[in-house]
Amino acid sequence: MPHDPADLPLERKALLLSGRDFWSTEPVEEADLPSVPMTDGPHGVRRQKGSSDQIGFLDSLPATCFPPAVAVGSSWDPELAERIGAAVGIEARALGVHVVLGPGVNIKRSPLCGRNFEYYSEDPLLAGVLASAHVRGQQAQGVGASVKHFAANNQETQRMQVSVDVDERTLREIYLPAFERTVTESQPATIMSAYNKINGVYASENRWLLTDVLRDEWGFTGVVLSDWGAVDDRVAALEAGLDLQMPGDRGLGNRLVVDAVKAGELDEALVDRSARRVAALAELVTEPTDGFDADAHHALARELAAGCAVLLKNDRDALPLAAGARVAVVGEFARTPRYQGGGSSNVHATRVDDALSALRDSHGTVTFAPGFTLDGTGDAAALREEAVGVARDAEITVVFAGLAESDESEGFDRTTLDLPAEQVELIRAVAAVSPRTVVVLSSGGVVSLEGWHDEVDAVLAGFLLGQAGGSALADLLTGAVDPSGRLAETFPLRLQDTSSYLNFPGEQGHVRYGEGVMVGYRHFVTTEAAVRYPFGHGLSYTTVETSDLQLRATGDDRATVSVTVTNTGSRGGRHVVQVYVATTAGPVRRPARELRAFTKVSLEPGESRTVDLELDRRAFAYWDVREHGWVVAPGEYTVQIGRSASDVVAEAAVTLAGDDVVPELTPQSSVAEWFAHPVVGADLLNGFLAALPDDAGANHDSLLQMIGSMPMRRFAADFGAAIPAGGLDRLIATAQAARDGR
Ligand code: BGC
Repeated sequence: MPHDPADLPLERKALLLSGRDFWSTEPVEEADLPSVPMTDGPHGVRRQKGSSDQIGFLDSLPATCFPPAVAVGSSWDPELAERIGAAVGIEARALGVHVVLGPGVNIKRSPLCGRNFEYYSEDPLLAGVLASAHVRGQQAQGVGASVKHFAANNQETQRMQVSVDVDERTLREIYLPAFERTVTESQPATIMSAYNKINGVYASENRWLLTDVLRDEWGFTGVVLSDWGAVDDRVAALEAGLDLQMPGDRGLGNRLVVDAVKAGELDEALVDRSARRVAALAELVTEPTDGFDADAHHALARELAAGCAVLLKNDRDALPLAAGARVAVVGEFARTPRYQGGGSSNVHATRVDDALSALRDSHGTVTFAPGFTLDGTGDAAALREEAVGVARDAEITVVFAGLAESDESEGFDRTTLDLPAEQVELIRAVAAVSPRTVVVLSSGGVVSLEGWHDEVDAVLAGFLLGQAGGSALADLLTGAVDPSGRLAETFPLRLQDTSSYLNFPGEQGHVRYGEGVMVGYRHFVTTEAAVRYPFGHGLSYTTVETSDLQLRATGDDRATVSVTVTNTGSRGGRHVVQVYVATTAGPVRRPARELRAFTKVSLEPGESRTVDLELDRRAFAYWDVREHGWVVAPGEYTVQIGRSASDVVAEAAVTLAGDDVVPELTPQSSVAEWFAHPVVGADLLNGFLAALPDDAGANHDSLLQMIGSMPMRRFAADFGAAIPAGGLDRLIATAQAARDGR
């Protein structure tokens, strides 16, 4: 039984508060505490044995590179995320790692964020459900997770200095829920605090974030560790709730902590508390297992990758490739796959499948031309000509286009959504001669399809699919597997249409989240702006119909929904039931609709299934900045089943009693707020109306409109006679008593 580290001398227990080195905690022999090795994550283990780095430059031991979060997001499949977590956990144990740093659950605020490939979605529910499943899978193997980057780390530009200036409702509704769900459902061993500031305070020194919200509200009991190098003021960070500084800084931070305690500036109990939490991580340490089955994990990576790609367009039944069709493959990415992103998450894959070989294996002979080079060198016109030549002789041409790793990575943001110009020219030239053209996209984030989309028959968005992505793409192209991915982020027509456009990546040290909660599809469906492909969109080789939507309130603030989906096509497939809630109830501007539940179901041809989904309180709530809490406003809520965020196929309405909120009244509350107040409003209003002189006319509505925004204190001073004896204070006390339930 290890000793309580709090009993150690101050200098010894302070050792636990920062890393021994780049990747592990400090061992403390006298407390029987071994060092705990950790490493990146999240879609594979990046175990470095020699020199270490946090930007993925130096080598690491071979491990399976599973589909990165951008792909998992598009799967809409928590079971898939859980299986990845479990497999990563198994490999981590074999490689002697006990905490794997992931998953990343930051919201894709702008399609330009260089790290979007490491994040799941622009929607917090989707991100939270998938992340929570990943953590569950990984931790079931005894390997701790580190949900990151907490919080509001949505860009790479100035990531270590920028202040994210954001209002609380937006944080609560958009940027925190994925962390919250992961914590409350799956209790990750650690949370990684982000580099950036939030409203001027570093996330790593933010007591409200790291203690009030994370621990006191959500009940987190694990370790808060810093992103690598995210600690600016070690003592302030400890006071805020940051337990472990990573990586180790040769004891500098610990000395500051010890000095602060000795100077009476820091309570030693805070050292004890964090030391105990870090010490508890040692329970994760076990003997390394005997290795892992690389073949089985590669096969798993292939199966899972095929569940992630999104078929965006499929005109004239271009896909699946007809057996025996003369197929040309064009594009260097077919031969040299782009399957993961650059930076700290980069995995040394055990092997890599390319789509060209996989297609040759499954479809038979295909012709090939590279069409372009990955670094843009070479004679673009000659490469294009060669590709046009093979496309002309084929019945169908599959162009593998996308972004090179140098175009997008951790550490910087993109400045454009465009594909390289030579690829756009290539696609257009091929489409002009090939009887049918399919484009397969590999990229960590959304790219523009404009300028070529209408000229091709089919588009398959593969994003980044991990080391078996090449064979998974072949499985989808040939129809061995039915495409079942759905977009986890909107494909806009133009970058300028995205809601963060005017405030990304910020300036002079600040980025203002001026779009508030209108992030991603929330913006597009609310403004009714056109997009190329909406959030939630994705085709399959079969067809599914939705029927028999039933909606029933199961309380004042919750409901259950049931809907039947039927596979009306001739192939088996997997369908995502997407449930959105739309309302105008309440005092705040709501997005036109928001994803509130989803599930992915398998359907054989002709099969029908009825799915039941719970819509709990949070499905209807907004964050009320006056109440400092979630509120379900009384009113009507429409529950919509969408084929995407823009395509509602069934809807039903329910009226909810909602929360009985008695608003606070102060002398500064407006006249309208006073008159509308459920407890004191009616009498006050009637008294006011009765006191009006007879010649005030009958048009009270416009009178009330004119005075409605006046603060009551000033109104009362000017029109005092209308306020009952006893003045405002008595009414304020009455309202407060009702608010407190007295
Ligand atoms: C990244 C983290 C990563 C850490 C360790 C940082 O630069 O932001 O996501 O886990 O390095 O490599």
